[in-house]
Amino acid sequence: MSSSKQNYGANPLAKRETDHYKNEYIESFVSKWDELIDWDARANSEGDFFLRTLKERNAHKVLDVATGTGFHSIRLIEQGFEVTSADGSPSMLARAFANGRKRDHILRTVQADWRWLNRDIHGKYDAVICLGNSFTHLFEERDRRKSLAEFYAALRHDGVLIIDQRNYDMILDEGFRSKHIYYYAGENVRAEPEHVDDGLARFVYEFPDGAKFNLNMFPLRKEYMRKLLYEVGFQKVTTYGDFQETHHQDQPDFYIHVAEKY
Ligand code: SAM
Repeated sequence: MSSSKQNYGANPLAKRETDHYKNEYIESFVSKWDELIDWDARANSEGDFFLRTLKERNAHKVLDVATGTGFHSIRLIEQGFEVTSADGSPSMLARAFANGRKRDHILRTVQADWRWLNRDIHGKYDAVICLGNSFTHLFEERDRRKSLAEFYAALRHDGVLIIDQRNYDMILDEGFRSKHIYYYAGENVRAEPEHVDDGLARFVYEFPDGAKFNLNMFPLRKEYMRKLLYEVGFQKVTTYGDFQETHHQDQPDFYIHVAEKY
């Protein structure tokens, strides 16, 4: 998040690397995002699904592995959960910490890449959350398997993983020609797939002042993701669709997988 311009090299469509995530969330992108996405509006559009899911399982100790700028971690702290906030990007964690301070919280932050999570995270959690379409940053299957195995290992014997993803099946099957435009809370941020193939979904994010940024993501299919969760050892995987962004249609914009260890 240090440089002022995103750098996808000469051929942005060839940038398909797990390690690129730290360079994508540059300062100007993240600040605009934080400034324009009203957290209350976002909380409203998500509803209380995560809170209910955690409470129903008596989960108290939660590890947020994709803290980002802190939205979910802070929301959970405010609901009385004990939260550890991890992320592989130090600058994202710094911003999350600052966002916590603004609301009178001191976040417990840990810099950890998912692939080696348990090198830096000790102890067992009732729940691990990986939200905001974060898992899509992993481009290699072995990185996905390794990360899920690390999430599994950080959970108590009866713990639960909550992981969400965009509905890429819709985008892959209908093609980006369908030009579904996604509006984030309050229509301040417009997102649209710019290129889609089996190995890449490149989105463009546009802000009201005309500023544009991109994210290169791996288009996870829903059934593939469920299969990985079972294969890593989770015993029960329930998939829910949707909290909506806005402008809803027949199909959900997001899927949420609740994977139980016991
Ligand atoms: N959950 C937050 C939200 O919904 O606002 C943040 C989501 S943001 C889309 C994705 C986050 O995942 C980024 O902060 C990024 O640094 C982190 N991330 C991506 N790949 C990672 C990896 N391999 N290990 C650790 N963190 C990673």
